[in-house]
Amino acid sequence: MVKEQLKEVQARIEAACRRSGRDPKEVTLIAVSKTKPVSMIEEAYQEGVRDFGENKVQEIMEKQPILPQDIRWHMIGHLQRNKVKQIIDKAVLIHSVDSVRLARQIEEEAARKDIQVDILLEINVAREESKFGFFLEEAEAAVMEIRTLPHVHIRGFMTIAPFVENSEENRNIFKKLFEFYVDMKSKNIDNVTMDVLSMGMSGDYEVAIEEGATMVRVGTSIFGSR
Ligand SMILES: *Cc1c(COP(=O)(O)O)cnc(C)c1O
Repeated sequence: MVKEQLKEVQARIEAACRRSGRDPKEVTLIAVSKTKPVSMIEEAYQEGVRDFGENKVQEIMEKQPILPQDIRWHMIGHLQRNKVKQIIDKAVLIHSVDSVRLARQIEEEAARKDIQVDILLEINVAREESKFGFFLEEAEAAVMEIRTLPHVHIRGFMTIAPFVENSEENRNIFKKLFEFYVDMKSKNIDNVTMDVLSMGMSGDYEVAIEEGATMVRVGTSIFGSR
């Protein structure tokens, strides 16, 4: 079942790329495996998927040792500062840096381990009260502050768009974040590499790709509902 659903998602990603004149190689599918068993992850792995997303540190800690070591784990959920120490050398990318304080904690632990940590800043484009992340107008100041941390490397932005019936309703959210991403990229800021825009989930990843996403995080459409 995972295999068929994965093929369907991959075909839709390619079609969205074609529609918008993009190379499918520019878009990485992150299979969001939170709450799902190792057997389902293995099924996706068999089909060539290497990027998996989880929203809990504990779950990555449990799954990572017993699955193939070439899996790239993406931390996509809200990260508490007291969990930073455990996750920074397990995740290839932390998508959900939502405060300067959290970035400083990552710096402290990364310095101790003498590693570089790639991060995205989470942006609450729609200003939803229930969501974490910087508002767009705070984001540039946050970039300028976090870029001074020598062991933390900003790669781009992530957003979780509102839950909507019709994905077209989120097109403007994705457009806005893409504009900001391009603007920040053009500034060539020291210690910042703007090459990742993580946006789009099961309900809206095709629209997100049309609007410039380089990573889509898809769970339900691959693994079924949770
Ligand atoms: C769960 C989750 C996803 C995947 O959501 P689906 O609707 O199941 O595709 C994507 N991003 C984040 C941050 C999530 O927590």
